[in-house]
Amino acid sequence: MMNILVVNCGSSSIKYQFIEAETNTRLAKGLVERIGMSGAVLTNTRHDDDTIKLTGEILDHGMAIEYVLAVLLSKNHGVIKDKSEIHAVGHRVVHGAEDFAGSVLITDAVLQSLRDNIELAPLHNPHNIRGIVACRQHLPEVPQVGVFDTAFHQSMEPGAFLYGIPYVFYKKYKIRRYGFHGTSHFFVSNRMAEILGKSIQDLRIITCHLGNGCSMAAVKYGQSIDTSMGFTPLEGLLMGTRSGDLDPQLILYIMGKEGLSLAEATTLLNKHSGLMGISGVSSDMREIEEEADKGHDRSKIAFNMFCYRVTKYIGGYTAAMGGVDAIVFTGGIGENSTKVREAVCGQLAFMGVNFDAALNNSGPKERLITSEGSPTVVGIVPTNEELVIALDTMAIVNGQVPPSMRNMKKNHVLDPVE
Ligand code: ADP
Repeated sequence: MMNILVVNCGSSSIKYQFIEAETNTRLAKGLVERIGMSGAVLTNTRHDDDTIKLTGEILDHGMAIEYVLAVLLSKNHGVIKDKSEIHAVGHRVVHGAEDFAGSVLITDAVLQSLRDNIELAPLHNPHNIRGIVACRQHLPEVPQVGVFDTAFHQSMEPGAFLYGIPYVFYKKYKIRRYGFHGTSHFFVSNRMAEILGKSIQDLRIITCHLGNGCSMAAVKYGQSIDTSMGFTPLEGLLMGTRSGDLDPQLILYIMGKEGLSLAEATTLLNKHSGLMGISGVSSDMREIEEEADKGHDRSKIAFNMFCYRVTKYIGGYTAAMGGVDAIVFTGGIGENSTKVREAVCGQLAFMGVNFDAALNNSGPKERLITSEGSPTVVGIVPTNEELVIALDTMAIVNGQVPPSMRNMKKNHVLDPVE
């Protein structure tokens, strides 16, 4: 049996799961919060629901990993007796740029490439790197694998990934569309194929990952051919606090009018926009729905804008793939908001979506919400990025092709400009 520690490092938090990969058994999961701040907290939940909360000074990611290992090894709350029972560590890494079209064993050279790409993901990659360094330090004998949010979308072709700006910036600064949430889009599209009992290679699937961050992907015969996030996770759908698509000229205009610095403009678009910016009350879809129900106009507008963009992307991706066989909803909003799904799918009858309100309203977490025989199927699939990371990690350690790369046809990269 291979036990994999799956690690997802944020700026001040680490989410982790300890998974027995062959059987997909989660032995423990947890979260370290407020790293580097006063009153850091580690919460660990074991497979039998035994939960322990530790508070203390956790100064950095290295210390946080030490705490995680101590809990996993703890006599009363742990799941292993010795560190050697951790057979590999799988890390979620946000940005792999064009260097990584799939999961990799982390070597010194890989770590260096990740450092080279920090500029592309300044908010994420440094923390991912800290997590890797910490695990190497505390588990020096244990192989580590990186699984990238961008990797699944490396199959996009230049027509989908380039921006309409001078080509030289693609080469000079690596400016192109990368897309994110790739692990989730990969997982839910493949799971949908399984649910339908068909090969992913025969299906055109649109995946909607709607959480605090939101993105959609057009997955044609198993390959991501387009996705809504771009150079950064700001592009595309309306999100909790991010604007999504806009006319780039407007930000220059606002910067001029308000005298904003680059940092202020970045904060405006990433932290004060989206559902929050429109509604003025919340970035949280549950609260937006509650406020809209109470008659709060700007929450109604925010809700409608959110759903309108999802609908518009479904239309665009259907055309891009020459049709659509299945649409998948996932993420906190996609999995839980009956209203968002209804607002989007209720108007797709023209493209063969026989939406079933009763199925939409209740049932098992994973289910179809179109009626039997619907030409285009719509379903809810809870995402499981940790499982993908665990299975990829196990495959790489065993010298096999990781599952997330088995269907990948091509990593499209363009030659240098002459
Ligand atoms: P993250 O992207 O940070 O992982 P999640 O995937 O957990 O976030 O999604 C969080 C979003 O899901 C929030 O906007 C939250 O309001 C929304 N959400 C969770 N449950 C519901 C629900 N029952 N109805 C509507 N929205 C929900």
